[in-house]
Amino acid sequence: MHLKTPQEIQLMREGGHILAEILDVLVDAVRVGMPTKELDTMARELITARGAKPSFLNYNGFPAVLCVSINEEIVHGLPSERKLKDGDLVKLDLGVLYKGFHTDSARSVIVGSASPKIRKLVDVTAEALRIGIDTAQVGKTLGDVGYAIHEYVKSQGYDVVRDLIGHGIGAEVHEEPEVPNYGKPGQGPVLKVGLVIAIEPMVVIGGHKIANGPDGFSYITADKKPSAHIEHTVAITENGPEILTK
Ligand code: MG
Ligand code: MG
Repeated sequence: MHLKTPQEIQLMREGGHILAEILDVLVDAVRVGMPTKELDTMARELITARGAKPSFLNYNGFPAVLCVSINEEIVHGLPSERKLKDGDLVKLDLGVLYKGFHTDSARSVIVGSASPKIRKLVDVTAEALRIGIDTAQVGKTLGDVGYAIHEYVKSQGYDVVRDLIGHGIGAEVHEEPEVPNYGKPGQGPVLKVGLVIAIEPMVVIGGHKIANGPDGFSYITADKKPSAHIEHTVAITENGPEILTK
């Protein structure tokens, strides 16, 4: 595990702020009829204008800067000519490299009018992330964090994806430790000051099994039921968890 110095966390705070501003613009731009490629083009321009670099471009061969995943697509969706439709649940996932450090964040956005079912899915995912972050205190374990997320999600009648998880982040976009959205209390690595992790619950209405999507990059729910995903990069500090991507 790479523990970060206060100076390194300050750089990640700056990068995370840039990332949050870009996601704000992208979320505001989402509208019915928009090809998802347009969001990727916007993200590219906004990253460059702020002196940052995209983390995901060419990562494992991914040819875009922004992941755009719709409905049953959980994560890693490839932007395309596909147009957003009224009622779509779209997940925007972006990473930026700034002054040598990556930050990673994702939002779930409902396009146009939302059904109560999809609205609840997004609300539960946001609350699961809030609970996970809240649990990420010095001395707690990643098992505590995953357990808190999973128990809450189950209490709402939903489930979490097991085969995709959060991660440590810093000079590399994916670092140790793994940050699952499930776990056992008291198990797993202990959270220490200077650890920076991406916490990212992926919540499903149906079963948690995943499959490969038709675009060659995305993961989808095996039962094709919708999934929501919200992510923040979080620093563990002696004053508690700090969201860097806000
Ligand atoms: Mg991400
Ligand atoms: Mg991530």
